[in-house]
This record gives sequence, structure tokens and C-alpha cells, in this order.
Amino acid sequence: MNRSEALFERARRVIPGGVSSPVRAFRAVGGTPVFYASGAGAHFQDADGAEYLDFVMSWGPLILGHAHPAIVDAVQAAAARGLTFGAPCEDEVRLAELVCAWHPAVERVRFVSSGTEAVMSAIRVARGATGRSRILKFSGCYHGHSDGLLVAAGSGLVTFGTPSSAGIPKDFTQWTSVLPLDDTNRLEEFFQHHGDELAVCVIEPLPANNGLLVQRPEFLRRMRELCTQHGALLLFDEVISGFRLGKGGASAALGITPDLATFGKILGGGMPVGAFGGRAEVMDQLAPDGPVYQAGTLSGNPVAMAAGLACLETLENTNAWSALETLGSSLDAGFEALKARQTLPFELVRVGSLFWLAPHLDGGTQVRSAEALPASFGDDYRPLHARLLADRVYLAPSAFEVGFLSTAHTEADVHRLVEALA
Ligand code: PMP
Repeated sequence: MNRSEALFERARRVIPGGVSSPVRAFRAVGGTPVFYASGAGAHFQDADGAEYLDFVMSWGPLILGHAHPAIVDAVQAAAARGLTFGAPCEDEVRLAELVCAWHPAVERVRFVSSGTEAVMSAIRVARGATGRSRILKFSGCYHGHSDGLLVAAGSGLVTFGTPSSAGIPKDFTQWTSVLPLDDTNRLEEFFQHHGDELAVCVIEPLPANNGLLVQRPEFLRRMRELCTQHGALLLFDEVISGFRLGKGGASAALGITPDLATFGKILGGGMPVGAFGGRAEVMDQLAPDGPVYQAGTLSGNPVAMAAGLACLETLENTNAWSALETLGSSLDAGFEALKARQTLPFELVRVGSLFWLAPHLDGGTQVRSAEALPASFGDDYRPLHARLLADRVYLAPSAFEVGFLSTAHTEADVHRLVEALA
């Protein structure tokens, strides 16, 4: 038994499933999880000292790679000044100013400690601002694990084959409506019947929790129009796409401005940070100015704010997004060359620094909804994942999770991924 296996055995005695978040348990791919010991750039070492090329990158936060010096320095300096105050600090204001300047939807932003908290709070402020209760989400989109949103969610839930979680009373989700992605007719029909009772329509503008389900811009534009017509708010959950697709996330990339947006991951540079923001008149409904309550002991934590600032400033100063696009193009090219050499059971879907090994559908149709995924999808992934792991190339332990490139990855790393796939 190696050290990861021994640690997992110990963990299972004291932590449910041996993990602090379900997908980490490797149930969808088999085997036992790799225990990380340290990371640098695009690589990490496991508890046994083996080195891996990482394409999970902590599921998104590490857009600059593991232990980026600018972030580590900022965290060390902030930690030395004090770990938490439970009071406002300057870095919090600076980070908020940056988010407001960069994201088209955000005039005011409030910090929380996770993406789950961000979306949960954004939904509350949307309900408070509209005086309406109903929310609309899309199957396969994941918005964290708060009660009302854990319906037909993607992420870990897909791999366990449960559409929703036990432990949530039916009454708690009676105000949650769910539609398939990429279906304008169903969307229009829904708004015709329920548009005037809808508080908020929430969507990942680039759905990345059930594979990478790239949406047609027309579908999202129609959603924007319908929300405006019916007095409902539009919330883009940019926990993954925020600061990854550029300064203004998917909203700026698509040229569609939602009323509210949520963030996490990159915004904390690896520290636990989430945020929700939007139009001033909506956000000003929050306490202490307004009647919608929301709070947090560690919200706006000084160490986390320093990490987030260092991350965003480095992204801007190094023109990271264009470098990531170049790297992504190399992955496309490598994959195309591989396809010319051999038959592959999957297709590469890539947007910026996100990629996914999608099922190969007849006629080259692109998968745009959870419903369009073949039931057997995932079977081919299991041996692929095991083989790449043996080659020390670390992909997500689930066919439904996307891969992440970082600025620490090189052309050689992308080449190594393609060769490992071969
Ligand atoms: N929204 C989206 C789009 C996400 O991808 C995630 C997490 N992967 C969340 C919300 C929840 O964030 P957290 O895990 O930080 O609670």
C-alpha cells in the first residue's frame, strides 16, 4: 500500500467517504484518490513523491499555477499583519474596485467565502429586490450546494446518478423551476406562463459542470430579453468563467450584461473567496442599507483579499488571457493532428483555458445540453483516466468535469497531454 492509499484508509475512518468534497473520492473512475503534498507551477507532487502534470488546478482557482510567487508573497505579507479582523480592510476595497471596473454587470460587490455562498446570497437579494419567489435554473448547471439550487445540478451529482440531494425538503425546492439548456422554445413557453412571478433566472453563461456545454449566444440573448420584458433579474454564475475568459468574464465575452453575477475560484487566487455583485439598486437592498440580510465572519478576509488582488493584478500585468488562448490553440492543433493519426472516441471542446473531452456524436453535433449526452458517456473515460494517471498526467476524476489550463502550463505540457491521449 502506498502513502496515498494509507492516508485514504485513515481518512475514511474519520471523514465521510474519506474526502471533504465528493468528486475527490474517485468513485466515478475507480481507484483511490491521489493525496497532494505540494505543487509548483503546472505540477504537483503526491504523498509518495511522484510528480504529476496537473490539468485540474484545484478546479479553477489556480489560473496562475500552483504556489505562484506573487500570490504566495502577498499571502505571507498579509498573514504577518493579521489573519482576520472581522472588520473592513483596504485590500477589500481595492479588490471590490477592480471587480466593479472589470465586470460589466457589477456596480457593487460583496465578498463571501465560497461560490455556494455567493449564489445563495445573490438569489436572496434578487428575491428581495423583486418581491418574487420563483427562480429558474437549467439542468446540468451547478450553482453550489444550497438547498434551493441542488436540483438537476451537474458536478458531483451527475456522477452519482442522483438528480438532486437527499436531505432537502420538497417545500424548499417548490420555487425552483428547471429547464434544459439550449431550448429557446421551452424558455419562451416558461416565460409566457411564469415570467411575471420569476425573481431570477440563473445560468452558467458557459456551463462547465456537466462537461463544457457551450451555449448559442442567441439563446442567452433571448434569455436577457425575456427577463427584461417580465421584470425578472438575470444572474450569470461566473464562478468558473469569471476572470478566466478575460477581465469581464463570459458576460463581456458574449456582450450580454446580466443584472447580477457571482464569482469565486480565481477571485481568491487559491484562498476561499466568493463574491456576488450587480446593479447598484439591486445590491443596495442588502443590509445594512436595505432589508435583505447577509453576513459572514470571514467575509472579506484580509489574507484572502490580498491573494485575490495579487492574482487579478498578475493576470492583467502579464496579459495572461492572450497567452492562455495561444496555449489553448496549441491544444486544438495537437488534438486535430492526433485525430488525423487515429480514431478517437471523443471530441475536444475548448473555450479559452477550459477544455473537455466530449462524446463524439454522429454528424459532429456539438453537445449543448445535459440531455444530449449519451447515457453510456463516462464509460470510455474510466480507462482513459487510469492510463493518464499512470503516465502522471492528472485529469479530473470524472468525465463530466472540465480541464483547466494555467499560465504555468507550457507548449511542452500541452504536447505531453496530447501524446498521453494518443
Ligand atoms: N457555481 C459554479 C458555476 C461552480 O462551478 C461552483 C463550484 N464548482 C459553484 C458555484 C460553487 O462554488 P464552491 O464550490 O466554491 O461553493
